[in-house]
Amino acid sequence: MPSLHVLFLVVQAATSQSPRLAALKQEVVTDVASRAQFTQQMVDQIFSFAELGFQETETSRYLVDLLRKNGFTVREGIAGIPTAWVATWGAGKPVISLGSDIDDIPQASQKPGVACHAPMIEGAPGHGEGHNSGQAVNITAALAVKKILEREHLPGTIQIWPGVAEELVGTKAYFVRDGLFKDVDLVLFSHVDDNLSTSWGDVSGNGLVSVLYSFQGRSAHAAGAPWRGRSALDAVELMNIGWNYRREHLRLQQRSHYVIPDGGDQPNVVPPTASVWYYLRELDYPHIQEMFALADTIARAAAMMTSTTLLPPKILGSAWPGHFNKVIAETMYENIKQVGLPEWTDADQKLAKALQRDLGVADSGLATKLDTLRPALKPNERTGGGSDDIGDVSWNLPTVTLRFPSNIPRLPGHNWANAISMATPIAHKGATAGAKVMAMTILDFVMRPELVTQAWDYFRNVQTKDIRYQPLIRQQDRPAIELNRDVMARYRPEMRKFYYDPKKYRTYLDQLGITYPTERAADGSCAGGATP
Ligand SMILES: [Zn+2]
Repeated sequence: MPSLHVLFLVVQAATSQSPRLAALKQEVVTDVASRAQFTQQMVDQIFSFAELGFQETETSRYLVDLLRKNGFTVREGIAGIPTAWVATWGAGKPVISLGSDIDDIPQASQKPGVACHAPMIEGAPGHGEGHNSGQAVNITAALAVKKILEREHLPGTIQIWPGVAEELVGTKAYFVRDGLFKDVDLVLFSHVDDNLSTSWGDVSGNGLVSVLYSFQGRSAHAAGAPWRGRSALDAVELMNIGWNYRREHLRLQQRSHYVIPDGGDQPNVVPPTASVWYYLRELDYPHIQEMFALADTIARAAAMMTSTTLLPPKILGSAWPGHFNKVIAETMYENIKQVGLPEWTDADQKLAKALQRDLGVADSGLATKLDTLRPALKPNERTGGGSDDIGDVSWNLPTVTLRFPSNIPRLPGHNWANAISMATPIAHKGATAGAKVMAMTILDFVMRPELVTQAWDYFRNVQTKDIRYQPLIRQQDRPAIELNRDVMARYRPEMRKFYYDPKKYRTYLDQLGITYPTERAADGSCAGGATP
């Protein structure tokens, strides 16, 4: 077996790392590890705030304070979005931008560390996507790197920003339009997952437009004079029926779904207003626009059938399908291999397996084998799926997403189950692993300027050779900052009682008095014992 020293030299040669860079990376990894409690507090704090898109006021206030205390200059309210901000530290090139989402999921309230459905507050939002962990990854990495850049007098600027309202794909196109990335060299985005990984090329998922169709009718007594009314709800229902028939004749790669935010007030009043909210997803810009045009046609037809008026369709969000940079992904993956997956304890695995069994999926537990670097998908391998507005960023400058292992495999997504691990040692260790990779990758690009050049070469000459970014948002569109206001106002007073207090409790699990892990009781009940 070769000695460790020889292995070290091999790694160094393979990645053309200087001994100085290798030593600084070693140092930054140790430093990130020493900040594990700081990372854990951020993860737990944001988990406890549990705020829906556009209403992340506590989360943003907390992060802005923390970044200011650590020497960052923060500009708030960017792109006309109250909870959006950008924090900057350093000087000179490269400018490296770190982003991660912060919003959560409606009705996903869940006690952490409990392997069955146990809401903290019935009906309240919760981090059922795990967006409470990414800022901890980015900020921990940034502070560890900052310490080194200061001491070594290295040039470089670090920018940090939140993905506000990602679940509504509501902001990143506006960040682009507002010029947030104008002088930035590359974006390192982080997102929770159940493994430590990254990828390059086209993502398998879709882009989308999120559109609100509102109809105006005429109210009347629904029994006394129904012939005098014109039901806006009828228009909504006929639009949905039309769409559901037409859907069969759309490409298999499309995904479309809707909810009815306004379906009228009460049955004895013919609904004078009604609206339906569609997510229209496809693989690329032309196909998304084609779907949007088709939905418009069906909406107009529904208005004609019901003698109601279709109001101008309102875009509430949008996303380009992502395409990630080969050079950054390959550089990052070398660091992923060095960091590896966290060491899971028996308690971690017990929670994961108990939850998997509770959901009726194979109880494979937590990931113990590192994902490979997925090569670019071929066009026929793209079958459609979810969306993330990091796609808009990725078509404006070299970008990758680092996926870090803070969650449990085989979960449904956008669900209470996805919140269970998110304030437990699984999330904490996953975030620390992610922060190590992030910090090492920042150092790579700070100390090897040729990598920045190569990343831009791929961006200009491969990725955008034939495809040019055109925003899906129109000139007249504005961020839909009013969304979720009412829901958050309804639940926030009760949720406040559960905010994490790190001065009193080491972890959020301690504060809630939850035994880790808690499984479903023998009598089938699911408790967990969370008290404010
Ligand atoms: Zn997400």
